[in-house]
Amino acid sequence: MTYAPSTAVGKQTAQQLADLTRTLYERGWMPGTSGNLSMRLPDDPDRALITASGRDKGELTARDVVEVDTHTGEAALTGQARPSAETSIHAAVYRVTGARAVIHVHSPYATVIAHRVGAHHAVAMLRLERFELLKGLGLENPAATHLPVFPNWPQVDRIAEDVAAHLTAYAEGPPGLLLADHGITTWGDSLNQARNRLECLESICQLLVLSQSEPHVSRA
Ligand SMILES: [Zn+2]
Repeated sequence: MTYAPSTAVGKQTAQQLADLTRTLYERGWMPGTSGNLSMRLPDDPDRALITASGRDKGELTARDVVEVDTHTGEAALTGQARPSAETSIHAAVYRVTGARAVIHVHSPYATVIAHRVGAHHAVAMLRLERFELLKGLGLENPAATHLPVFPNWPQVDRIAEDVAAHLTAYAEGPPGLLLADHGITTWGDSLNQARNRLECLESICQLLVLSQSEPHVSRA
């Protein structure tokens, strides 16, 4: 059950996802089978390709992706591999933000911050300010923003509901979020933009850890 796209666009999109997945794995941001990447199909924005569940991310190929509906996160074709367990979070981001690509990884510094700041039952808001790298997030006001940290509910659909509700209420927020004790998700108009934003946020989290400053946290 591997992905065999019928169009050149599908093939190219799957290849882009596989290439970036292996790169992020080599950086140590997708240990084991963790993390998932998705991208809307350029010729059909209601569909996206997402990395298949349970695959070794260091060996992912263009055939290890699944076509899903961007509104529901459900598999769009029969006879495919299982989509990532976290597909519903991608779908929530697509529905609310109109993004074209979503990346979720367990990069170490973002995960440390998500562990320190996150709460079990409520969304925490981490204030980010002063760092030059904030300019890489494409914010209207790059001087400061609040990065949401969501409870890591065992039911992924519950996380997706929280994410959709939050992004609807805070449309001007940053193009990323943290999951408590878990990892980071970013998005953008392209896979490269989502990756750039991921790099900026991971780096800001690294600076927060290294500076040992007390995180500024409020509740949503
Ligand atoms: Zn994860």
